[in-house]
Amino acid sequence: MGTIELSTHNQLSGSRRVIVKIGSALLVDDDKGEIRGTWLSELASDIAGFHKQKIEVVIVSSGAIAVGRNRLELPSGELALEQKQAAAATGQIRLAHAWQQALGIHNITVAQILLTLSDTEERRRHLNARATIETLLKLGTIPVINENDTVATEEIRYGDNDRLAARVAQMISADTLVLLSDVDGLYNEDPRLNSNADLISEVTEITPEIEAMAGAAPSGYSSGGMLTKLEAAKIAMAAGCTMAITDGTVMNALSALASGGRATWFMPSSEPLTARKGWIAGTVSAAGSIVIDAGAINALKSGKSLLPAGVTSIEGTFERGDVVNIRVPGVGVVGRGLSAYSSDDAIRISGRKSRDIERILGYRGRDEMVHRDDLVLEMNVVEVNQK
Ligand code: GLU
Repeated sequence: MGTIELSTHNQLSGSRRVIVKIGSALLVDDDKGEIRGTWLSELASDIAGFHKQKIEVVIVSSGAIAVGRNRLELPSGELALEQKQAAAATGQIRLAHAWQQALGIHNITVAQILLTLSDTEERRRHLNARATIETLLKLGTIPVINENDTVATEEIRYGDNDRLAARVAQMISADTLVLLSDVDGLYNEDPRLNSNADLISEVTEITPEIEAMAGAAPSGYSSGGMLTKLEAAKIAMAAGCTMAITDGTVMNALSALASGGRATWFMPSSEPLTARKGWIAGTVSAAGSIVIDAGAINALKSGKSLLPAGVTSIEGTFERGDVVNIRVPGVGVVGRGLSAYSSDDAIRISGRKSRDIERILGYRGRDEMVHRDDLVLEMNVVEVNQK
């Protein structure tokens, strides 16, 4: 398949990192409970087109339960939680295999990641999941993500992949999230009841009015429901990620969207990195401080990451991923960031070269104590003279 022509009038143009969420209703044939092979291979061609253009793609694919319940010949209708979990266990293997085949034709390696709610919400697990996905993307693979339905109990389940996809978008600072759905977007009224209903092509804020539009559609109208899609939009927009809802029932839905196809676009007011930094800056209390020397602050001001070599001491007790203050003696707090090390480990590597980290700690952590993407400097940090 050829590459996708990205229209300059389209939000997908210029995307660097895209998450594509695929609902069960699209991927799995309801009657047979089987994966729609042709549809999947056309979508895989679209995805391969992005990949070829060096746009990073992460797939969030539903369908495990739908495929598994058929295989296990479970009754139709609502399943008990343990039946859903059994179905997911059976279906997920088949789902992963289908993706492996569909993208393998394009010489793309897929990597399966199964996440639970706490993997995206709990700081340390969040950082680990993020590092893994980042590594897989750097290695040129396409991660295929689903909820870990087999172990997630009711209370710790997302239950829908719309919100899971938005959390993943937030976690890895994706710039675009595409929800492939059985509707082509958000309408001001239910289009099945009113043929004059208008598609809302752009939403810049989820107002009560917008929420009321989603509520108007009867349940079952789309897989996750329009309400969960709006919940996803809120998460995505707050993270600086643009989100689209578009019709995935057609062939090559992604290339259709890339060339300006019908959709509702949810536009955030900031970029992913700005949103992330806003979140770090807005954290109410820092767990501790990393004290740095004058040379380090000047490096940070020129846009560099904080290396252990520039750290003179550690204050307080914190875990990897906690928000910490960055302090310069005699100057005060000059910024905030996410520490890549716990306070115990940070103490041990303070003032040392990054290449010595593995020898000192017994594992190879990050070269940086605080990565520049995880760092926010105070606007009015004065120039510090190096002794
Ligand atoms: N994780 C579920 C599955 O793979 C789907 C959840 C959803 O439909 O959003 O079957």
